[in-house]
Amino acid sequence: MITGKMYIGGKWVDAVSGKSREIINPFDQSVIAVVPEADREDAAQAIAAARRAFDKGPWPHTPAARRGEMLYELGQKIAENREELARLESLDTGKTVEESRWDMDGIADIFKYYGGLADKEGGEVISSPFPDTRSMLVREPVGVCGQISPWNYPLLQASWKMAPALGAGCTIVMKPSEITPLTTLKVTELAEEIGFPEGVINTICGPGASAGAELAESRDVDLISFTGGIETGKKIIQAASTNVKKIALELGGKNPNIIFADADFDIALDYALNAVFFHAGQICSAGARLMVQEEIHDRFVEALLDRMKKIRLGSGFDEKTQMGPLISAEHLDKVERYAAIAQEEGARLLCGGKRPDDSELQKGFFFLPTLFDQCENGMRIVQEEVFGPIISVEKFSTEAEVVERANGTIYGLSAGFWTRDPDRIERVSRGLKFGTVWVNDFNVYFSQAPWGGYKQSGMGRELGRVGFEEYTEIKHIYQNHNPRPIGWFGG
Ligand code: NAD
Repeated sequence: MITGKMYIGGKWVDAVSGKSREIINPFDQSVIAVVPEADREDAAQAIAAARRAFDKGPWPHTPAARRGEMLYELGQKIAENREELARLESLDTGKTVEESRWDMDGIADIFKYYGGLADKEGGEVISSPFPDTRSMLVREPVGVCGQISPWNYPLLQASWKMAPALGAGCTIVMKPSEITPLTTLKVTELAEEIGFPEGVINTICGPGASAGAELAESRDVDLISFTGGIETGKKIIQAASTNVKKIALELGGKNPNIIFADADFDIALDYALNAVFFHAGQICSAGARLMVQEEIHDRFVEALLDRMKKIRLGSGFDEKTQMGPLISAEHLDKVERYAAIAQEEGARLLCGGKRPDDSELQKGFFFLPTLFDQCENGMRIVQEEVFGPIISVEKFSTEAEVVERANGTIYGLSAGFWTRDPDRIERVSRGLKFGTVWVNDFNVYFSQAPWGGYKQSGMGRELGRVGFEEYTEIKHIYQNHNPRPIGWFGG
């Protein structure tokens, strides 16, 4: 069993209150670690350490190329520790080790990418309308950043925040989800080995309502970056108003996956499964809203059902497992409630809809892969984020109809569609109101491509150059090389 500590001001510490939390393996509910349980006071100490490191420390003035080297080195260390980190992530989240390995590859790449980008952000000279003057734009780090990540992709989501913030010269207080802190603590350890100055990276464990809320409310935090649910996001916006701090939000999604009749049937089918059952559907971009054109609807649903019945549930550490458990008992209850709601609303249950009966899965938070057909636009199963292994299927007839229906949601994170028609590709890509649109693919992320939502799926973008710029302020420097008398007031 692991005994963890938090990292504040360059020291590994327990919570001021002495409280701790047991971290549970969702496969069998065994206790895998005990970590400190921060509250407001610990968060305030971490913020003070980050404030000192930003205002008085060397980090914001360290040459960007050096900051970049250190990030690159951290990326390399993550790659070297890939297997250990992947196993830790699977222990904590229940996902298969193979999925966690892919996560680690992406995470190593993110640190390397922002390592490379850190010294590429030059300033700009802009034209000034006045003689003998010069106008320049420079980018400077925003300051102290509070960073709050969710439990579904613990280290991946943390890395999307840590790497650009550090590259830009900010100092950070990172708070992973209270139930999945282990890999973020491990990467903090790796960063310590590299020698990031004291107070630049602070990692605290603790619940949102206290430790997280302190980060969002504190007047000493200049930017709050949050990934999580929409309702928490709304609280963050309110809390951030104390000092009008900058806000970056990555919230939920209800993501349509649209299959036109001319699509490559087998490939679209394969990806439709991958779009949802990775990490048991606990992905903000899960393609849980499947929209199938009427000509192929029956055949597609039948083929889907056939494949879904063969999905192997089990331990993430068993090579044969294709889908692990959900994260917690509460979350399992929520997913189960949605399955009941869908049936009450009149959706047709074709498979799953309940917990598995297998005796060896009883201790884990498992839910069967579930398929609902005959779903309608207004149903809650279609409109709300379930975050579990449930597909709702809607039948459509025309392109215009499906685009309008797909857009008819409060969310706007991501969408995908499948067709061979190049003109349709152009029209539908433009018509869908989502931050990312995948054409003949689904759930593709990489360091270079910005990620974020339209509408209530968020504010701002992570990843790519834009994700770096979120952590900078633009300053306009105006120099007058030949000031002349004005002589207006009393002249
Ligand atoms: P959540 O909102 O419950 O918690 C997310 C984080 O916020 C946790 O660290 C939690 O401790 C903290 N928190 C909770 N209440 C808080 C408060 N009042 N003040 C400050 N912090 C608080 O979300 P979750 O259940 O951990 O994650 C699932 C959600 O995350 C889903 O809605 C999913 O769509 C979303 N998500 C979005 C993206 C994206 O890129 N858009 C990626 C992953 C997950």
